[in-house]
Amino acid sequence: MHEMSLAEGIRSIVEDSAHSHDSSRVERVVLEIGALAAVEVEALRFCLEVVLRDSVAESAEIVIDPVPGQGWCMQCALTVPIAQLYDPCPHCGSYQVQATGGTEMRVRELMLAATHDQPEH
Ligand SMILES: [Zn+2]
Repeated sequence: MHEMSLAEGIRSIVEDSAHSHDSSRVERVVLEIGALAAVEVEALRFCLEVVLRDSVAESAEIVIDPVPGQGWCMQCALTVPIAQLYDPCPHCGSYQVQATGGTEMRVRELMLAATHDQPEH
């Protein structure tokens, strides 16, 4: 299941960040998941629950922010919304649509528990 390796990747990002900010607890993790990223959100949530157990993010709230899919239709020369990879253009029905947005998953934001002497950003 590739969600498990994604969850492990997220854990190492979160742990590195907490470590470099001298924080021992993560309060919130905001993930952006593109509609075209082929990530099963429920599976990922489950994997994160397993993977983050006993980590700095054990009690962190996991917020998943879906990013809509976008593609470039060569026929219309327009950016069009698409729900899935290889979907046709909603305007002209052409399959010559190149995915341009919503293809990635990333950690957008981490909220670390307040530590004293927190540096200014
Ligand atoms: Zn089109």
